[in-house]
Amino acid sequence: MRKKILLDEKDIPKQWYNLAADLPTPLQPPLAPDGTALNPKMLERVFPANIVEQEISTCRWIDIPQEILEILTIWRPAPLRRALALEKYLKTPARIYYKDESTSPAGSHKPNTAVAQAWYNKKFGIKRLTTETGAGQWGSALAFACSLIGLKCRVYMVRISFDQKPMRRTMMQTWGAECIASPSPHTHAGRAVLKEMPHTPGSLGIAISEAVEDALSDKSGKSRYSLGSVLNHVLLHQTIIGLEAKKQLKIAGEKKPDVVIGCVGGGSNFAGIAFPFICDKIHGAKIEIIPVEPTACPTLTKGPFAYDFGDVAGLTPLLAMYTLGHNFIPEPIHAGGLRYHGMAPLVSQARVEGLIKPRAYDQVKCYESAMLWARTEGMIPAPETSHAIACAIDEANKARQEGKKKVILFCYSGHGLMDLAGYDKFISGKLTRYSLPVHKIRDSLCALKKFPPAKKIKTGKW
Ligand SMILES: *Cc1c(COP(=O)(O)O)cnc(C)c1O
Repeated sequence: MRKKILLDEKDIPKQWYNLAADLPTPLQPPLAPDGTALNPKMLERVFPANIVEQEISTCRWIDIPQEILEILTIWRPAPLRRALALEKYLKTPARIYYKDESTSPAGSHKPNTAVAQAWYNKKFGIKRLTTETGAGQWGSALAFACSLIGLKCRVYMVRISFDQKPMRRTMMQTWGAECIASPSPHTHAGRAVLKEMPHTPGSLGIAISEAVEDALSDKSGKSRYSLGSVLNHVLLHQTIIGLEAKKQLKIAGEKKPDVVIGCVGGGSNFAGIAFPFICDKIHGAKIEIIPVEPTACPTLTKGPFAYDFGDVAGLTPLLAMYTLGHNFIPEPIHAGGLRYHGMAPLVSQARVEGLIKPRAYDQVKCYESAMLWARTEGMIPAPETSHAIACAIDEANKARQEGKKKVILFCYSGHGLMDLAGYDKFISGKLTRYSLPVHKIRDSLCALKKFPPAKKIKTGKW
């Protein structure tokens, strides 16, 4: 039995897959902050025109430029591995496969889009990118990409992670980027938050506001902003994960997966593994597709589908998505990459359609799964990834109870070697369970009342 299925470099996918071409019901359009229709030109102050073109594209396949492929080949095609030791431990008849995105230079799936975004910006004549980062994964991915492609890079890092994960900042600096704790005194948005809440742990929403404001206020016009998740073009770039996995499952002799799992923060690694299979599901395949989020930030399981800003200051367009409200500041759980208030519009629409069935897991359950994983499969996963592992374990146990030989596929979104502080807390018994109290969501959702309602349109097929 094969433990890993490797593709040859020449078999790397040459095109990205765009789910927008196949969704049976269309996305609700993004709106300008005042609720009127959004002119894509407005986006071009924040993103280069070639990225905006991808953002609104409904073409099914989009060619990956050769120069991007050359950089991706540093670590791609990524291995598809089979979790044989875990299967044995669980005594499950299920076959568990995981797509190992931890082998990239920054240690997660995020460089897949960082390289693409840096390349398109450079091609458009941009000299400098600004961004935000939660756990530091995205900031280090973009720092890596900018360094290879030749762009300056400034990263606003959520304060709580800046303090918990100082080595991530060192990684960014090693790749030549500048890393600043957010909220910061560098921007209006940061100063406003610091004045009201000087000890805030920060949030992705605040850091996004700072990074966007920074890019917009560069008078030379050569700065743009870059986002690591949520938007259509980011999800597009990540589909290389699922496209490779599909080829690899075929080599392993599997016709199709029965269950596809990914953890969700903004939705990009989940989309990456799942969208090519959602395409199959739309065309009749029977596949269960499960995004997993933390109970501390239960966007898909507890949030409404509504128009909301992507950031605290309201600098982004209004997006139709599942959201906990742009003012929502989640508890400082260790899966920093899963602490975003919103959810990618494409993932949100797939949820409205019933094509995906989300779950929320508590961080203690996730660390227990991560420990079992490390002690069977050997690798130490990122706290974010442990949400997908916990779900894969639940599904494998269910398959044992039902006596079914299911094929389970999940995205191993990153390694946890930079996240050992969280493991330390878990091992010393200091990690607490955390479920978001309903009243806390109610408060942060009040801010949405002033926006136009988002229509939930579905075919009812799933
Ligand atoms: C950022 C991150 C996530 C969550 O982000 P998505 O855009 O939802 O994929 C998950 N896992 C790891 C390792 C990350 O770095």
